[in-house]
Amino acid sequence: ILDSWLARLNRGVLIVISGPSGAGKGTLCRLLLEKEKDIKLSVSATTRLPRAGEVEGTHYFFMKKADFIQQINENAFLEWAQVYDNYYGTPRKQVEEFLSQGKNVLLEIDIQGALQVKKHYQEAALIFIAPPSLEELAKRIYGRGTDSKEVIQKRLRLASEELEYIDKYDYCIINDEVERATERLQAIVAAERSRIYRS
Ligand code: 5GP
Repeated sequence: ILDSWLARLNRGVLIVISGPSGAGKGTLCRLLLEKEKDIKLSVSATTRLPRAGEVEGTHYFFMKKADFIQQINENAFLEWAQVYDNYYGTPRKQVEEFLSQGKNVLLEIDIQGALQVKKHYQEAALIFIAPPSLEELAKRIYGRGTDSKEVIQKRLRLASEELEYIDKYDYCIINDEVERATERLQAIVAAERSRIYRS
């Protein structure tokens, strides 16, 4: 009996992180990956244009809309969603390969995508990264300076809608201070590695 449990515990953990733009999930994901070397980041596909400094295959696979739609039809995405006029999706193959090899996989995706993943993988750990307040969120988005005023307004509106979905998640981390938030994230991942899944 122990052997069968060991086999189940040796499976990779699927960690899904979402949260409003500006909550700091990108930074937390980067720090988590630096500290926990056995977590693989799933690189998403998107139809949006690269931002300055973004590298094809590292930050995203940048695609034309027609190609993205073709991949949807070929069932190549584990999940996909339209976020601010662009399409985003998680390539299915890479995630399934990592998990079957017993590797832990991190997805940084939006709420629509996270809920789709949870439908297929009930054992996925859904973690919501929340800002300490909406005022702080606005400050962070303006401070980033990468987006136009119009886009920022849109992101702020969407953020307050997104906060209503916290109760669909398994965990919520308030990103008040990066170091402490990263520690909480690591603690959750550690717990998930020892979790007993009931079928
Ligand atoms: P950004 O354009 O700022 O890189 O990302 C915009 C939003 O799309 C973020 O909330 C990000 O988490 C989400 N996103 C990135 N990749 C994926 C993906 O593969 N699937 C889904 N559903 N959302 C994604």
